[in-house]
Amino acid sequence: MSLTAGVVAVQGDVEEHAAAIERAAAARDREVTVREIRDAGIVPDCDLLAMPGGESTTISRLLHSEGIAPEIRAHVADGKPLLATCAGLIVAASDAGDDRVDELELIDVGVERNAFGRQKDSFEAPLAVAGLEEPYPAVFIRAPAIDSVGDAEVLATWDDRPVAVRDGPVVGTSFHPELTADSRIHGLAFFENEVASVPSLEDAQ
Ligand code: GLN
Repeated sequence: MSLTAGVVAVQGDVEEHAAAIERAAAARDREVTVREIRDAGIVPDCDLLAMPGGESTTISRLLHSEGIAPEIRAHVADGKPLLATCAGLIVAASDAGDDRVDELELIDVGVERNAFGRQKDSFEAPLAVAGLEEPYPAVFIRAPAIDSVGDAEVLATWDDRPVAVRDGPVVGTSFHPELTADSRIHGLAFFENEVASVPSLEDAQ
């Protein structure tokens, strides 16, 4: 059956995430329709969700004011997958380390915004990621670090700090997996996450 994907589109790399989702689905012979989420009412129709980077304070404010935040929480409570990247990770964390962010508390980690030093504001690193055979070319842009991990699994570290985690159906990354042609992180989050449920091809239409 065809899947419906949602990309939170209040800010950030919406088209790039949509393209990465389409590539990851095509690699598995799955059809997917991508919808942009700016208002309440769309998330309940989605089988999988991506929450891009941007400015976490702005994203958090809009998700709450538009009534999208409780829908994302319900999506995850239903066991459906969510990939939260960079500012999306900050918003999804249980502690953003910044009072201006009203966290969704979907990934049991504490983060530090803009944690990788000034000279390293943006960089690319070959990252060993649990579940991927070859290193992943990870692009970091004013990236958060994960500075405490509760009930979540660390999938990758850089400079001895966790930069990719999984908490049940949710995968969070400090980096931007939508900015390279490599859609393995989207594949991992949506199609190879055994804890998350995406309708299979056999499921009734
Ligand atoms: N620095 C941004 C924040 O703290 C995140 C950067 C990004 O998403 N590229 O919200």
